[in-house]
Amino acid sequence: MGKEVAPPKLAIAGLSKWFGGLRAVGACSFEIAPGTVVGLIGPNGSGKSTLFDLVTGLLRPDEGAILYDGKRIDGLATHEIARRGVGRTFQSVKIFRDLPVRENLAIAAMGRGLRGWEPRAGEWLARMGLTRLVDAPAGTLSIGQQRLLELTMNLVIDPEFLLLDEPLAGVHPVIRRQIADTLSDLRARGRTLLIIEHHMPFVMGLCDKIVVMDHGEKIAEGPPEAIRADPRVIAALLGRAERGSGDARA
Ligand code: ADP
Ligand code: MG
Repeated sequence: MGKEVAPPKLAIAGLSKWFGGLRAVGACSFEIAPGTVVGLIGPNGSGKSTLFDLVTGLLRPDEGAILYDGKRIDGLATHEIARRGVGRTFQSVKIFRDLPVRENLAIAAMGRGLRGWEPRAGEWLARMGLTRLVDAPAGTLSIGQQRLLELTMNLVIDPEFLLLDEPLAGVHPVIRRQIADTLSDLRARGRTLLIIEHHMPFVMGLCDKIVVMDHGEKIAEGPPEAIRADPRVIAALLGRAERGSGDARA
């Protein structure tokens, strides 16, 4: 009794972003409940990564609002948004390629002013199978290992809300399994995740809800079973595949 209802972890409302004459994101609205995993799918060029850039403050929206834990964050600098507990991985991995794995983790931790982070980093490195590579320049790792490193740079900080942009792209099936297990683990620990991913069995198996974008607009939102059967979604994903972009593989 009298207990307040928690606000959505993330709420975006009427979000739009233009690049010159191109509307990359158009009047997009949805919410993410705390502790849930949401998948963001859609053909290449449908505005998914741009939406991530808007949420993490790399880009400013032209219209609309972004609320994190009930408070406006659009307009804040990227580091201010990060400091509130928002982590992110990128479609093309962002790591310090010339620096050893260990230094990459140190930079991530120190950027947030963390102390005593080394034991946690050590545990994650062991779990990710990266321990023997701590002294290797990050750029010499395989793409899958680089994605694990970028993920570990986030895990050291332990964000409450993590956005993952195509975490399985270009990744060997063994490492895919590791990433999938890690994300399941984060979900079990109450973290909130927003995941862009083309790999449908993964998305369908992990997500509580799926949001589908096409041409910058949200065209569907719902539980995986409903999304799988939605004719608009099938048309958007298959339509692109037939036109040869090949990114709507299921
Ligand atoms: P997705 O991640 O769904 O593949 P993006 O968000 O990367 O899509 O891109 C959406 C659209 O915006 C595409 O047409 C893309 O070419 C365009 N776009 C993305 N970033 C920029 C930018 N910085 N400048 C101009 N156009 C961009
Ligand atoms: Mg993208």
